[in-house]
Amino acid sequence: MTIEALPTFTQLPHPHATDAAKRAELLTNPGFGRLFTDHMVTIKYHVDKGWYEPQVEPYGPITLDPAASVLHYAQEIFEGMKAYRYDDGGVGLFRPEANARRFNASAKRMSMPQLPVDLFMESIKQLVSVDKDWVPTQAEASLYLRPFMFATEAFLGVRPAKEFLYTLIASPAGAYFASGPKPVTIWVSREYTRAAPGGTGTAKCGGNYAASLAAQAEAIENGCDQVVFLDAVERKYVDELGGMNLFFVYENDQVIYTPKLGTILPGITRDAIISLAGEAGWEVREVDYSLDRWREDANSGALTEVFACGTAAVITPVGTVREADGDFTISKAQAGKLTMQLRQTLLDLQHGRAEDRHGWVQRLL
Ligand SMILES: *Cc1c(COP(=O)(O)O)cnc(C)c1O
Repeated sequence: MTIEALPTFTQLPHPHATDAAKRAELLTNPGFGRLFTDHMVTIKYHVDKGWYEPQVEPYGPITLDPAASVLHYAQEIFEGMKAYRYDDGGVGLFRPEANARRFNASAKRMSMPQLPVDLFMESIKQLVSVDKDWVPTQAEASLYLRPFMFATEAFLGVRPAKEFLYTLIASPAGAYFASGPKPVTIWVSREYTRAAPGGTGTAKCGGNYAASLAAQAEAIENGCDQVVFLDAVERKYVDELGGMNLFFVYENDQVIYTPKLGTILPGITRDAIISLAGEAGWEVREVDYSLDRWREDANSGALTEVFACGTAAVITPVGTVREADGDFTISKAQAGKLTMQLRQTLLDLQHGRAEDRHGWVQRLL
């Protein structure tokens, strides 16, 4: 077995990097996904050469051939993760290898090349190091990291491309909820589904999101914050939201249900919550959970809390569910106790404030 050394990343520092005063001003209210740091990482791939020319370069536009196959057939995947500021000024990541592995699982489903986990990790370290001053210091704020890969080969035939570009960008993100988590209202999509068995629901690919936008627009038109999708076969069981997994809490039974894997995206937050809730004495069951059950148990009061989870918002309480024929609410649409506890536990782990018994936390700086 040969152990391949990591390639050296070429460093192309930004010639006019943002000065400290300007950066401080930008970081007072970064919002989400609008502001980007000074640099990005790119690594090229050609089927005959493998991965080559890794570099840290100024953040800026990418030139593409109009025939680049991503623009026609959507061979594209991405990840979402965060770098967190610690109280001592350090910076760390939460389960980054899980993102690297899921990136490769998505790549496999979309007939794209595998990016070695070490190379993925190195790209993250390189960008966070060079742009470390962009990691916000406010409570619950973070530097959102967006690794993605897409087909660049100029070819209109339908087959997996031979050339790809991996890119990593970073975006400072403020606290998702300015004044504490607010229970959301979600719209049940009856017309659209997110993923069918055998489809791409488990891959984190742009195409899934493109297909979810009409349903999300319908949710907004109906005064809701988010859409929840039902399974594509029976239109009976709950899948997930557009970009978050769901949990159903039955406090009196000390049981939590969550839709089982299959067509949903295997969230890393979901996985962490399953472990943390189990260790806190809850029984966690991964099941087919029906909308009918949700409504009945919310109305009877047996269902005490519902929350959605994902890297961007961590944990979001679900207060009201809206369907064409009416609304129902869970526990008077108040944020639940376990919801808030798990949220705090996760935040403390992510920000390096709690003892890391799982080996989930990786300090970078
Ligand atoms: C990314 C994503 C999630 C959440 O996954 P995390 O790893 O917890 O951030 C859930 N659903 C969809 C569709 C996603 O794309």
